[in-house]
Amino acid sequence: TKPWDDAEKSPLIRFEGVTKRFGDFTAVDNLDLDIFQGEFFALLGPSGCGKTTLLRMLAGFEVPTQGRIMLDGQDIGPVPPNRRAVNMMFQSYALFPHLTVADNIAFGLKRSAMPKSEIAGRVEDMLNLVQLKGFAGRKPDQISGGQRQRVALARALAKAPKLLLLDEPLGALDKKLRQETQFELVDIQEKTGTTFVIVTHDQEEAMTVATRVAVMDNGRLAQVDTPDRIYETPNSVYVAGFIGDINLIEGKVASCGDGRTKIAWAEGQPDIECDHAGALEIGTSCTFAIRPEKTAISKKQPENTANAVSGKIHDIAYLGNISTYHVRLDSGHIIKAQTANRERRAGQGLTWEDSVWLSWSPTAGLVLTR
Ligand code: ATP
Repeated sequence: TKPWDDAEKSPLIRFEGVTKRFGDFTAVDNLDLDIFQGEFFALLGPSGCGKTTLLRMLAGFEVPTQGRIMLDGQDIGPVPPNRRAVNMMFQSYALFPHLTVADNIAFGLKRSAMPKSEIAGRVEDMLNLVQLKGFAGRKPDQISGGQRQRVALARALAKAPKLLLLDEPLGALDKKLRQETQFELVDIQEKTGTTFVIVTHDQEEAMTVATRVAVMDNGRLAQVDTPDRIYETPNSVYVAGFIGDINLIEGKVASCGDGRTKIAWAEGQPDIECDHAGALEIGTSCTFAIRPEKTAISKKQPENTANAVSGKIHDIAYLGNISTYHVRLDSGHIIKAQTANRERRAGQGLTWEDSVWLSWSPTAGLVLTR
């Protein structure tokens, strides 16, 4: 069992009823959260939802208005930032331009109690960790942006903090370098075993690096779970819409029982059948959610399927590896279906205005009631 599924396991970090107000504005609202040793934990959400404020409270740069934050079972409220076993990785432009890579990494160590004789060895370990062995004598302007990022990481890890905080650490990198660096980050996190907490507004980044993701909404936690569970079983329309692409169809419960729910959603359209364990009253407003890649598209009417609707192709986005089809139904709904392009010159010979069928199994979608 993973630590977060183990009720006996005590967390490395615990937020207990933490609220942060700026004047009469509530940035973080009565939040409870556990983060475990060894996790790579991502705080994800739109701009202004309180991610950075949460991180800054962990670092000690902000003080909670209410509640407390525990590290290893101890309230860190009274502990000043420089005495916490917590370090923050800053953007690479915070490196000292006049110092070499090695001296940048050694900077915090020289101001700590570490004996001089140990510092050189520690710097070397850090250079190896971030694969910059041959770069010790260079200045920050003599290395690439990705390498600077790794120096900043090495500097932040040099004092072996229990917890490393990263606020949009890859924001300054272009997309390709950013993706490479994400894998490097994961690698380094695994090698050191240090608990990482990263703030990002990029859902792909969160999905790539994190053991668990907290999706935030206006100072609250909308859902905290592993990336696959957040994607496959979002708990609300907000989370479903925030992560990945999804079709959201509003309707009303027409029947519910024996693990199957039927949803009435448009005049003249058959009810949607969906596997759903909950008990919902008939007439309850709900949203049916289905990912485009779980929606099949075909010219022929599919046989033996619970859910099939017909429409016309309204738009096609060819993305190389996949194609996304926007299909307009008679009811006016637009539903997206996605296919993987496995063959060269793939596609299914489908083009604009073609009449097509969309279908999906009852296990493919979700019924959301909030
Ligand atoms: P972003 O992705 O844009 O950085 P965020 O989710 O990290 O956003 P925070 O920086 O935590 O958001 O800010 C949350 C809210 O608190 C915002 O509305 C912000 O304007 C407000 N806020 C943050 N710091 C202060 C401050 N020192 N004084 C007043 N309001 C603040």
